[in-house]
Order: sequence, then structure tokens, then C-alpha cells
Amino acid sequence: MKGFVFYRGPSEIDGEPIICIATGIEDGGSNSKTGPMVQIYILRADQSPLQAAQNGADVSICGTCPHRGRIVRDAKTGLLSNVGRSCYVTLIRGPRVVWDAYSRGVYPDVPLAKARKLLARKVVRVGAYGDPGAVPIKVWKSALGLVADLTGFTHMWREVPELSAFCMASCDSEVDRVLAKALGFRTFRVRTKTEPKLSGEGHCPGSAEMGKATQCAVCMLCGGNRTNAKADITIAAHGAGKRNFERNKEMA
Ligand code: SF4
Repeated sequence: MKGFVFYRGPSEIDGEPIICIATGIEDGGSNSKTGPMVQIYILRADQSPLQAAQNGADVSICGTCPHRGRIVRDAKTGLLSNVGRSCYVTLIRGPRVVWDAYSRGVYPDVPLAKARKLLARKVVRVGAYGDPGAVPIKVWKSALGLVADLTGFTHMWREVPELSAFCMASCDSEVDRVLAKALGFRTFRVRTKTEPKLSGEGHCPGSAEMGKATQCAVCMLCGGNRTNAKADITIAAHGAGKRNFERNKEMA
């Protein structure tokens, strides 16, 4: 089995149809940053992630994440497009590949009890794309109950503080970090290359600025309050949205 769908239902954000797909069940996939981990994708169920990012339907799986970009309509053609997207995820890679496989029927639906068994003793990345806050918290509690270890990240730390149990709060400023910590989260703060590391933060050892010294599958510092680690993590903007991240910060 290459992967499976373990949630198919309404988004907690706007009620639109979404799916959760676990991939890399047998070999952990080939992500060079994370190393071998089961990758969980949260996608719209009714359209490709590329389409959803262009028409704004990705709000169902990303919420108010500031890295989604703005949707603008061309005055002449009436077509919608995305401007200023600063998300690090390259949609044309993992999300598109997973969507295409899903559309071909590669991933069977499995009940939560079976998902829990299939994920048992695995090392899991929650939210290779999409925010865990879009999915009912009871789904996570059930599906992830027997995993060996996990990493998780959410921009929905204001709305779903229960996610602090296994997710880092994705933060984009010092103020974000203060607020997220007040809600009980450990934080994962993305900064521009000129912004300093703050007290209580450690550099992500898998980052380019740290020479990609390790991979998530070995490090496993980003499991929210599930890990014994106390430090918060910071990383310089990276990935597909790096340039827009720097530009958006300059304009803020
Ligand atoms: S701190 Fe560790 S687990 Fe977190 S993103 Fe960096 S390498 Fe991955």
C-alpha cells in the first residue's frame, strides 16, 4: 500500500470537503529535508491543490495562514490568480503528485481504527501540506495514537489550542511567538535572513543556515509538547515562497 485516505469530510474551517492522505507508508518517501517519514497531506477533496491555490479554495485547508498569498481577478479576462504566495511548499511537487495519484484511485479509504494500526510505530509528519487545524481534533487523536514519533506544524494555534499537544505553532513574528506561547505552544518561527534568533529559540539543525546537519526523521524536535524538548525553533525563510516572504516582510 502506497498510502491511504483516513479522513474525508467537512473542513473545520469552512465546511467544504477535504481529505487527509497518509503517504510513504512503506518506505517513508524521498523528502530530502525530512528524511524517511510518513507524510500526511490535507487537501481539498474536489479540486487539485494547484487550482485551489489560484482560486482561493485552499482556505479550507490553510485557513488564514499569511503565506497563502492574495487572490486577484484579472480585469480583462476575469480569471483569478494568486499574488504574493510565500508558502514554502512547492505545490507542483508533493501536493500535485499526491493529488494525481489520489485521482487515479491509488489511495483507498480506510476507517480510523485501521489508520491507527497502519501508522503504529511509524515516524509521521503531520501536514506535509495543509493545516492540521482543518481536521477534527478527534481524528488526530485516533489516527496518531500509536505512532512512534511525529512532527507537526499549525498556523491555527489561535483557533485550536489543543493542537499544542503535538504541533509547533507556526509563527511569523516575535509577537506571534509571545501569543502562541501564552496559549501553551512551543513555536517554530520563520524569519528573514537578517532577523536574529531570539532567547529560548534554537536554530533548526536541518536548515540551510545550519548546513543541513540532520533531517527531521532523526532530529524530531518539532513534535509540540509531545517531545521532551523545551526550546522553540527558528529557521530562515526557505523553499518555494522564500522570495515573497522576504518581500512581504519588507512591505509590512
Ligand atoms: S528542528 Fe528538527 S524536526 Fe524541526 S524542522 Fe528542523 S530538522 Fe525538522
